[in-house]
Amino acid sequence: PYVLTEKQFLPYHEVTYPMEERGLQFGDGIYEVTRIYQGMYFLLEEHIDRLYRSAASIRLSVPFDKDVLMEKLEQLREMNDVKEDAILYLQVTRGSFPRNHAFPTENRSNLYAYIREMPRKINEIEQGVRAILTKDVRWEYCYIKSLNLLPNVLAKQEAVERRAFEAIFHRDGIITEGSSSNIFLVKDGNIYTHPATERILNGIVRMKVKQFCSALGIPFVEEAFSINDIAEAEEMFLTSTTSSIIPIIQVEDQIIGDGKPGELTRKLQAAYEKAAGLAVKS
Ligand code: PMP
Repeated sequence: PYVLTEKQFLPYHEVTYPMEERGLQFGDGIYEVTRIYQGMYFLLEEHIDRLYRSAASIRLSVPFDKDVLMEKLEQLREMNDVKEDAILYLQVTRGSFPRNHAFPTENRSNLYAYIREMPRKINEIEQGVRAILTKDVRWEYCYIKSLNLLPNVLAKQEAVERRAFEAIFHRDGIITEGSSSNIFLVKDGNIYTHPATERILNGIVRMKVKQFCSALGIPFVEEAFSINDIAEAEEMFLTSTTSSIIPIIQVEDQIIGDGKPGELTRKLQAAYEKAAGLAVKS
């Protein structure tokens, strides 16, 4: 496979970094993950726009302008002859310099982007998943898609060890988001989700769901809900680029609704599949 770097396209194994790389030593960088369905990028421009927003918010410059980057990513896709479901991973760091917390005086960002095969999570999408609750101990800038994922890693590991698919973060009982997803709750036919503040990453799929709701006439309420609301939820689901839309059928010991994927969740899944050009099941 080929990798795009800030300089050139390189074979996967030829991309290596010195020990003193700011992404490695400080997590001083940002990233994006874009879905590829049947060899085609899905919502690439939305992801690239967010990449530049994340970069600007940490005063990091992206090596290419948007048009050039989009073109190179298209080239990368062609070079790798992608035909399957996959993801594009892209990261930009503040570069390789002798270790020092403060910014280097020279502007030499590192960028790499590569494509990895990633099948759709069909079972989870159809059957739904279990989730656990965990304390949100993250910083105040969760809207930046930064490389600092240690709290997310620890939360996801806790979920795996407790046989759940996702860990849902709460701050003083208020649900913020998942360790790598946005979280939604249906009550009285309304869909609730945490507003897009600095406390969550405004997911690309989250924004898509907002559009689907508006087109389908489903009330979409960007109002935070709490742990106590879960007992009264008719449905819950999560969204992310790798997962798309996955029903949540249990949180800790609480069964959600009748323990099966809900009706609104199904409608949104169908809208998503249509938008992504995927075969819609009968
Ligand atoms: N929140 C967090 C913390 C995430 O890591 C992700 C996955 N990137 C999301 C939300 C969902 O965002 P998106 O829909 O853009 O994948």
